[in-house]
Amino acid sequence: MKNCFACLLSSNWYYIIILFLILFGFTNLATANSYDSLEYNLSLANIKDLVLKVEVTLKGKFKNKLVLDLPSKWAGTSYIKQIKNIQVSPKYKLKLIKKNNEHQAIITISNFSDQLKISYEIHQKAGDPSNVHEAIIRNSLVHSPGYGVFATPYDLNKNDKIHIMINWQDMEQEWKTISSYGINSNLDLNINILELIHAIYVAGKIRMYKIDTNYHPVFLSFYGNFDIEDNKIVSDLARIINSQRKFFNDFDFSYYAISLIEGDNPRSMGGTRLSNSFTGFLPKGLPAINYYILFAHEHMHNWIGGKIRNNEDEELNYWWTEGFTDFYSRLIALRSKDIDRDIFIKELNQFLREYYLSLVNQEPNSRIKKDLWNNYDIERLPYYRGFVFAIYLNNMIKQQNRFHSLDNIMYDLFNCASEQPFSSNLFKNIAHKYIKDGVDKEISNFIDQGYVIPLGGIELPIEKTLMGRYYLGFSKDIFLKSKIIKNIDVRSSAYKAGLRNSQKIISYDIPNGIGDPNKIITIRTKDKTFQFKPEHYNKVEVYQVKQVLSKDEKQQFNEFFGIK
Ligand SMILES: [Zn+2]
Repeated sequence: MKNCFACLLSSNWYYIIILFLILFGFTNLATANSYDSLEYNLSLANIKDLVLKVEVTLKGKFKNKLVLDLPSKWAGTSYIKQIKNIQVSPKYKLKLIKKNNEHQAIITISNFSDQLKISYEIHQKAGDPSNVHEAIIRNSLVHSPGYGVFATPYDLNKNDKIHIMINWQDMEQEWKTISSYGINSNLDLNINILELIHAIYVAGKIRMYKIDTNYHPVFLSFYGNFDIEDNKIVSDLARIINSQRKFFNDFDFSYYAISLIEGDNPRSMGGTRLSNSFTGFLPKGLPAINYYILFAHEHMHNWIGGKIRNNEDEELNYWWTEGFTDFYSRLIALRSKDIDRDIFIKELNQFLREYYLSLVNQEPNSRIKKDLWNNYDIERLPYYRGFVFAIYLNNMIKQQNRFHSLDNIMYDLFNCASEQPFSSNLFKNIAHKYIKDGVDKEISNFIDQGYVIPLGGIELPIEKTLMGRYYLGFSKDIFLKSKIIKNIDVRSSAYKAGLRNSQKIISYDIPNGIGDPNKIITIRTKDKTFQFKPEHYNKVEVYQVKQVLSKDEKQQFNEFFGIK
């Protein structure tokens, strides 16, 4: 299960796009266009045919040529095929370019113009995806990041604020709207292009809720059905928002939106943080804890990777942006008693198993940058490596002064976030305050070079056990495609459970996602049911926190994690 594939992608592409714009955005200054305002009318008149019509009015001073970036791609998603029927008014010559997944409209202006309109249609994608990175156009929902909706001038400095109006039009009465910029169907904004596109826009038959905080309200939008009742989701989110804001002592949010939609693939969930918001897609059939964790993870990114923004080494910092986000989203939930110690230890042990059993846990950090998009094991590596490193560092800090913890580094990072972005050097500098010899060597060994982090001797009730990595024991591809057992390994637990080549499978139950050797798999043939633990016969040493604790161990655990 790709748990937070999404947010990982989003921030990454955000910076790639910034870089792209910086590198190429200024090369077009020869045309010397200037822009006063951009107005986007989003017409729902043809929504029954699954079409959103967008009309863009550009005002300014345009000479000779105007180039617009049309919705192209973001976070592994391509929007190009969805954009159709592009027209320009007045009827200047229009040339469209589709190259390397970039989509542009080049308009030749005969002389000089101070106003120009371009319109296009966004059609629903084949296959009707339910992923929040997509531009979703249904007869009861439009749900898209700005990347999938807005055409923007290529030569407009993407960091310059500009007057932008967005108007939802021809909307049926029971439809509502929500976006990164409020719940009104007409928005009048002074923002830059990056703020326009790195944002969520929703209209549809959505269920709206409001969380009253002591400061500004948080708005929620739900579409589709979830396993958990709306009210429970709202109260979970309210507690997450409260406890995380309290942790950073940061209540400086003027407006916040959360949009959740039902996912259609039971094995896929995900989310992404956008300006003043996050959005997620959740399939049915998830354990309740997964909902909570997804919300907590995405909301934590308001700080980690959000307000404490990354420097340009985005992927090389994922051990912090993703690993520490996974660590703190769970730890804050434990401290606020939203999850109990039992669940926390189960979660923690799952990270430890994932880390110690991983086939790639000794890969250097540079491999993450190189192969993040090519290899799922590599994509997951920074999440669990960073999580285990957080535990290791917390122990180092507490050994020097039991009144300090990793929290202090987090607070310091937040306090200097407005002056400088996160970098591993900044992290090392701050760590010197709490660890006499610093953590330069540890970051070099365990993050940069990929030595396995030893947790022996740590001040936690931890024990070493022998365990095998996740191993199905037969061909997964053939199994998923043809429902037949093929290439079974006679040493595997599947074989020991009685499964044999050529057996035809009637049904199966593989616990959420693929990858935990501890979760029993059930496979049924016409006349028999087989159950086995998908654990490899080659065992390696894995650290696990004890699930049942004595009184002293409970105290040690509470001391380590700052539980009062
Ligand atoms: Zn994330």
